[in-house]
Amino acid sequence: MTETLFTHATLADGSLKDIGVTGGRIVSIMPAGTASDAARKVDLAGALLVPAFVEGHIHLDTSFYGDTWIPHKPCTNGFDVHERVAFQAENMAQAAPMAERARKQLELCVSHGSTQMRSHVMVDGSVGLKSLETILAIREEYRDIIDIQLVAFPQSGILKSPGTAELLDEAIAMGADLVGGLDPASFDRDLQGHLDVVFGVAEKHGVGIDIHLHDFGSLGAFTVEEICARTVALGMQGKVVVSHAYGLGNLDPDAARGIGAKIAAAGVSIMTNAPGDHAFPPVALLRAEGVNIFGGSDNIRDSWWPYGDGDMLGRAMMIGYRSGFYTDEELSAAFDVVTAAGAKALGLEGYGIAVGAKADFVTLAAAHVPEAVVAVPKDRRVFKAGRLVAENGAVVR
Ligand SMILES: [Zn+2]
Repeated sequence: MTETLFTHATLADGSLKDIGVTGGRIVSIMPAGTASDAARKVDLAGALLVPAFVEGHIHLDTSFYGDTWIPHKPCTNGFDVHERVAFQAENMAQAAPMAERARKQLELCVSHGSTQMRSHVMVDGSVGLKSLETILAIREEYRDIIDIQLVAFPQSGILKSPGTAELLDEAIAMGADLVGGLDPASFDRDLQGHLDVVFGVAEKHGVGIDIHLHDFGSLGAFTVEEICARTVALGMQGKVVVSHAYGLGNLDPDAARGIGAKIAAAGVSIMTNAPGDHAFPPVALLRAEGVNIFGGSDNIRDSWWPYGDGDMLGRAMMIGYRSGFYTDEELSAAFDVVTAAGAKALGLEGYGIAVGAKADFVTLAAAHVPEAVVAVPKDRRVFKAGRLVAENGAVVR
């Protein structure tokens, strides 16, 4: 017998269905009222049922969410990654314990409907492996309500921060899932040297890569091309992400389409959070070229910016808003960026509303997906493996 039958769920196609769940997986999707008996029934009363959101890029170690308010300090002469890293070090020294802050941020994300996450964690000469140790323990604590991938992130560069290459290697051995990188050319001043380390550690351990790339213009675009070439050369298609890739946002459309085709062919995914006043990747143009582009909150109330609420549905709205998305098809694309595209980028197994998929879903007070993206309804219930894990904006444990 089916363990739990979720009755009267409105699916994205507008149909009203009963969803059977056994052993944490969806075992049946039947027209409402036709499903067989179940040990337990949960009436969703027509709420829109969608796959749980994928928080594709966050920093669990550096947020001040839930801590005392730390006013943002602007760079002295325009956006400068080095200076921001220095400000972050000052702020972190005064912050509440990392585990406390990470828990608050995780619960915020789950309460909004994310049950899958990729977090970058600082691994460099300044903090060594201490932050990773803390976040690895937090991951265990929250294993029943959210799946978390961790990226060993060289926030202070690799070549500029002696010993970081070895630390990245140790980080993967300790339990980090992917190797990170940071502006290989502008930060470390050595594009190939930086990528040699990142791809070298990834190849040694058979893990994926997720590189922060803030560089604008042709330097950013050139770096993306180099990452794509190495990805193909090593047969790592589907396992490499470039986060931000601001440089794709200020190319002319023909150049963007050309590089988009290369990114798609290399199976590299692009992460965007549709940041404030930065250029950012052209979502519709890249999707048309076959690029998998997905979303993340990135920084939430940290040294980099004061914004962020961990709501990936709100993020879909921002991505749609900044991309000039108006039609239902475009709004659905913005939704795809925070759901299916995120699942593809993270290589998640069993994602979606389908028989055999994991029963990770969110119910929304909306008639359909385009309405959900523009209205960002707060009335939600979040289920992980068929079990209620959050409602009314709070985690239920
Ligand atoms: Zn980031």
